[in-house]
Amino acid sequence: MKKLIVAIDGPSGAGKSTVGKLLARELGYLYIDTGAMYRAIGLKAVREGLELKEGDALRALCARTEVRLVQDVVGLKVYLDNEDVSETIRTPDMGMAASAVSAQPCVRERLLQLQRRLGEGGGVVLEGRDIGTVVFPEAGVKFYLDANVEERARRRWMEFKEKGIETDLQKTIEEVSKRDYDDSHRDIAPLKKARDAVVVDSSGMGIKDVVTLMKTKVLEVAGN
Ligand code: C5P
Repeated sequence: MKKLIVAIDGPSGAGKSTVGKLLARELGYLYIDTGAMYRAIGLKAVREGLELKEGDALRALCARTEVRLVQDVVGLKVYLDNEDVSETIRTPDMGMAASAVSAQPCVRERLLQLQRRLGEGGGVVLEGRDIGTVVFPEAGVKFYLDANVEERARRRWMEFKEKGIETDLQKTIEEVSKRDYDDSHRDIAPLKKARDAVVVDSSGMGIKDVVTLMKTKVLEVAGN
């Protein structure tokens, strides 16, 4: 059976990470969370007190920064210059910082190379905003995973709550909406549905059903 590149794009909170991980595990594929890479760069920029829209400073930062994704038994670990930042990057502020730095061409160029290197051999599930449109436009299967904004914000809010991060639901709805708007209106690699993507609306669907639906599609393509 062919080892495909599987692209999952969609707005924040659509469930890309949750289903991406499970789908990769069921297929025996590598899982790559590209949002985590933008979050890691955002974290370093915030720590250094950089203006997040300052292209030259971000270019210099990217040149001296190493971002690594490592799959271990407990899941995907994210390393920023050899520091494990897997948990630190999962806050509302880091989501907003990632969105800001991701609009900068120098940041996208740098991470694009890394993502292509990791995925080019196939047997991978990559999730993000521009995988099927920019990173791997020739991906074997493309999904656009969506859900209504209230449900996406509620899922994010629940995740934060479970981690002990206090935030209110209304604020989360506003943040998710802003991030959707910014991610889909930026000049380079905006979030949009690839023409040949399979749209999956996960509103009201259980995780298991979403994964089964996607896996069936991947196996169908891989078997041909
Ligand atoms: O998916 P996640 O919420 O971790 O992504 C954080 C931010 O990184 C997104 O809001 C988006 O601005 C950016 N991103 C991107 N392109 C990707 C993945 C994430 O611009 N492929």
